[in-house]
Amino acid sequence: MIGLPAPSDLRARRAGRATQLRRGSLSALREGRVVLLSAHTPAEGRRPSAVTAEVLGHSGRHLVQLNADRWSCSCSTPSPCSHVVAVRLVSGDVVDLEAVSR
Ligand SMILES: [Zn+2]
Repeated sequence: MIGLPAPSDLRARRAGRATQLRRGSLSALREGRVVLLSAHTPAEGRRPSAVTAEVLGHSGRHLVQLNADRWSCSCSTPSPCSHVVAVRLVSGDVVDLEAVSR
């Protein structure tokens, strides 16, 4: 059948992607491959407003940044990558893996 994937396929794909992101980001953190270079959270803030970090990934060292409420990574993986998720976790940002996998 040609067309949009069934909703259940989409849900399964998102769940799989969320699992991948969780696994990849947590292993980077556990293996000490995340170096937080700078992080700023406003005094009354619940989320960081500016972050710079380096993550050693499988294809090299990647620069992860939060600027103007936008996360970016120097790797070639489509957003969101596990590097950004790892830095979001370690810098105190809120991460809903199911939501970011959409
Ligand atoms: Zn990345």
